[in-house]
Amino acid sequence: MATSDTIVPPPLPDEQERISSATKFITLAVILLPLFGLVAAALFLWGWGFSWVDLGLLMGMYFLTAVGITVGFHRLFVHRSFETNSTVKFILAALGSMAIEAPLFKWVAVHRRHHQHSDKPGDPHSPHMHGKGFLAGLRGYWHSHIGWFFSPDPSDLDHYVKDLHQSHVLRVANSLFFLWVVLGLALPAALGGILKGWPGVWTGLLWGGLVRIFLVHHVTWSVNSACHIWGTRPFRSNDESRNNFVFGILALGEGFHNAHHAFPTSARHGLRWWQPDVSYYIIRLFSVFGLAWSIKVPSAEAQAQARRNGSDVSLTSPEAPGARPDVPVLPAPGLMLIFWMLLGAASGINLLQIVWHVFGWEVGEISIAVPVGGGIGALAGIFLGLIRDPRMLVLVLAVFAGAAAGAVAGRLPWGPVGEISGLAIGGFLGGLAWAAWLFSEPDGPDRVEPPSATDDILAGGRTGP
Ligand SMILES: [Zn+2]
Ligand SMILES: [Zn+2]
Repeated sequence: MATSDTIVPPPLPDEQERISSATKFITLAVILLPLFGLVAAALFLWGWGFSWVDLGLLMGMYFLTAVGITVGFHRLFVHRSFETNSTVKFILAALGSMAIEAPLFKWVAVHRRHHQHSDKPGDPHSPHMHGKGFLAGLRGYWHSHIGWFFSPDPSDLDHYVKDLHQSHVLRVANSLFFLWVVLGLALPAALGGILKGWPGVWTGLLWGGLVRIFLVHHVTWSVNSACHIWGTRPFRSNDESRNNFVFGILALGEGFHNAHHAFPTSARHGLRWWQPDVSYYIIRLFSVFGLAWSIKVPSAEAQAQARRNGSDVSLTSPEAPGARPDVPVLPAPGLMLIFWMLLGAASGINLLQIVWHVFGWEVGEISIAVPVGGGIGALAGIFLGLIRDPRMLVLVLAVFAGAAAGAVAGRLPWGPVGEISGLAIGGFLGGLAWAAWLFSEPDGPDRVEPPSATDDILAGGRTGP
């Protein structure tokens, strides 16, 4: 792991010149168009080929198998960024295998090789090793996204996973790859059948199986391709890795890839308050239940040392006077603000609906609830965005939830007085409980690991002199 005295500012060659802006825009279109196409297909098929059950199976299977890749294959097995017990390891290995990217050992070996040689000869999927110019850029993108998948395996892959071979549980999970593949398809088909009858078997297999596999592949491979092309580079990482907000969201935190290459053994990739890192939240949730420990996160000092410009995330790469600006992107804090406003608006609408329903107000519920609740929620989103602490968002949502619960409870025995006091008391207690839990959580590293030889190998051996 990178520590303050081993981080040496790498030379900054003409990195910006490696891939042209035109190539970058085309790669972005290639990545985003299938996603838009899928949304369009889902809307078009709504009602007969796609329903709430299929949407649930798609999102549920996406979430479970993506977590198997991000939390399991990547952060646990490749980088050992936290520790857990054998049962959790086995389940994560099975879920990750259901994504059908590769059996566990091969996936881990290829990815460790990527870190060792990142964007240099030997990197299995760098977009930058195909020469300069427009066509070379496109070839590089294609190779990094999917082309590498069809390249012959390097002969030394076993060398990278000697530690995993020691584990009986992981050897078994690895050898059962084809069972996990079949289960990953059979599960959504069976659930679809239970919930919707025979037609549900086919739509469940289609949306929870095939479409879900396409989505998980496209998104996780975009971390290899887009996140080495598109985004910001706040940290010195000796390669072309980027923090990319879109894939930060879609890939459950993995898109903050520059931070990951700077701190490979960190369990947290979205290191800033406005970088949502769902995989890290899951690891923290595991730790609440005693299922994760030794969670590694770089200290504030190590992060400050590794920054390219010694200050906040830069969108303009001021590291060299006269350097070309980085690819212009919407400032991530702005995106986070919009995200919160939407979330706030949605919860505002829902809250009003619930409360009005409880009070039995029926006139114009929906038509009034949308602008009023949405407006209040959006204002709350702006307010929370200015506060800059996501825990505040959770706190306010908890107050909403508590208030709604209080309103429901208050409706039962005591009439209008009971409703209002139930609303107030429920909101207050809900907020208090969440605040007590959230603010007792340490925000810093759980444990700063001393650098060791093993860490250095897992980190790709890139932190040495
Ligand atoms: Zn990478
Ligand atoms: Zn990695």
